[in-house]
Amino acid sequence: MKKVIIILGVIIYGLSGMVFAETVIYNPKSGIYHNQYCHSAKICKVCIKIDKKEAQRRGGRACKKCGG
Ligand SMILES: [Zn+2]
Repeated sequence: MKKVIIILGVIIYGLSGMVFAETVIYNPKSGIYHNQYCHSAKICKVCIKIDKKEAQRRGGRACKKCGG
């Protein structure tokens, strides 16, 4: 029974991680990050998908149109 609880805990932890981890489209050249639905992100050729926290750590700023 203890094993089941541990497994359940891992699953819940994993799910919450997916919900709270925000992925943004980061442009390393301009240092601006967009949300995944932003038009600028869709046409961006140099952009990479990274965690929002990672984008901010790299000195990224939120896009003025989509808010990051
Ligand atoms: Zn944007």
